[in-house]
Amino acid sequence: MTTVKEILAQMSNSTPEDTALIEKAYAFGLKAHEGHTRYSGEPYFIHPTAVAKYLAEFGMDAPTIAAALLHDAIEDAKATPEEVEKEFGKEVLFLVEGVTKLGKHKYQGGERHAESLRRLLVATSADVRVLIIKLADRYHNMTTIEHVPEHKRRRIAIETLEIYAPIADRLGIGRLKRELEDLSFPVVDPDAYQHAVEVSKLKSKETEQGLLRVQKDLRHALVRKKIQDFSTSIRTKGLWSLHQKLKRKNDDITQIHDIAALRVIVPTVDDCYSVLGIIHSLWKPLPGEFKDYIAFPKPNGYQSLHTTVLTADAGIVEMQVRTQEMHARAQFGIASHMSYKQLGKAAPKGAFQRLSFPWIRDLVPTLLNFRKAAVPAPASVPHKQKPGSDIPRWLTELADAHAAVAGTQDFVDGLKSDFFSHRVFVFTPTGDVIDLPVQSTPADFAYAIHSDLGNHMNGAKVNGKLVSFDTALRNGDVVEILTRESAHPTAKWLEYAKTSMAKRHIRNALEQFAPKAPVVEEKPAKKKRASKKRLK
Ligand code: MN
Repeated sequence: MTTVKEILAQMSNSTPEDTALIEKAYAFGLKAHEGHTRYSGEPYFIHPTAVAKYLAEFGMDAPTIAAALLHDAIEDAKATPEEVEKEFGKEVLFLVEGVTKLGKHKYQGGERHAESLRRLLVATSADVRVLIIKLADRYHNMTTIEHVPEHKRRRIAIETLEIYAPIADRLGIGRLKRELEDLSFPVVDPDAYQHAVEVSKLKSKETEQGLLRVQKDLRHALVRKKIQDFSTSIRTKGLWSLHQKLKRKNDDITQIHDIAALRVIVPTVDDCYSVLGIIHSLWKPLPGEFKDYIAFPKPNGYQSLHTTVLTADAGIVEMQVRTQEMHARAQFGIASHMSYKQLGKAAPKGAFQRLSFPWIRDLVPTLLNFRKAAVPAPASVPHKQKPGSDIPRWLTELADAHAAVAGTQDFVDGLKSDFFSHRVFVFTPTGDVIDLPVQSTPADFAYAIHSDLGNHMNGAKVNGKLVSFDTALRNGDVVEILTRESAHPTAKWLEYAKTSMAKRHIRNALEQFAPKAPVVEEKPAKKKRASKKRLK
């Protein structure tokens, strides 16, 4: 079992308070999971400690690591939320409960799927650390998947490939993306996995010696050109990623040039371009294959120079040039932006939350696209949903709203004009999500679902309790509208409604049901309030 020392050893710059928090969480988790075992028969606490160590490697802050140690203590073990809050405070409890909630929602067909995506968005829009813990949790569970009962393995692996790996990619956590993919791949499609393994082996054998010679030549050239402290390495392509590329190239191995690539890491951006010049003077670049991701970073923040050159020793070789900082970001993504190492002790309270907003807005199109990534479905596992029915409407609308604001936001300062900061997500009793502007009320909710529902609204419940029609809804509320056939809107409802759609429906209904009513107004609601004041 990972010891508390091993976890602490991964944390640089930790304060005595950080250390005390981790030690306390470790002791608490150990006790809470006493007698509790994994599928493998090993002590359960092996799992939370492994997740905590992994997050410490990523440079996550102490509350995140403490929450990782406690992340299954409420759901699976004996701890209560009250205890966790009393011992560790609100912040840690929030993170633990965020992960717990996600875990309860198993992926099953389109609806459950939409459900789990929605939960993910709601929890993460409050604090992205919830999702990072969840990703690390999934990573460790995938490393021990052989102990999971066979009938569950495939579902977990597909979910990992379809949801968690794309999210890790979107977060720029390249290392985690690749690990999640390559752990899931053999479970999801063993034959294709074997094929990819063989192709990869064959190709590496062919080019290994040649690549080593190319690497040596390059190192000598860099030294001659006085490039200071560089490092080079040969990286091989992930197997899932290779599989995707093989499919795109109709299984033509000769079309794939990046199974092994040569990577150069240098101190500065200037050095990157110098190294590129040296590479191009040694070997001829293939036209159209050069990509400057330094000047034009990928949407997930990835930066590097990529070029593909023709060498005598190893044939066509891809080269990647980047700084140490870019390399760290390529591996750890958002975690490297968010770590206590970067934010420092002076990081304002809530810094993490602020960082999460622009990011999650960007995530939405990724979630929309992941369905397009074809995961082979053997005949034994029938597809439960109709094609096209798997993308919930609300998510499409979110993506549209995203498109409208994309590119206008600064990474950290964008919060105020951010889409998510102006929306609340509330649920119908059956679990559908309705997203509404902040300050929306049950009246807005009812009309957002259907004008009939709004027009016959007789009462409203929020989280099972009767509320007045002007109650402001909050993220995560479950809202139920009670109807009566004889109920109709009154002019008062125009004050309850905040959305223009609801107001429009109410005005229409007022005309229809009481055409002579003196309160019917053509003017927008603002004017109405003003005129009311005058009456007083
Ligand atoms: Mn877990």
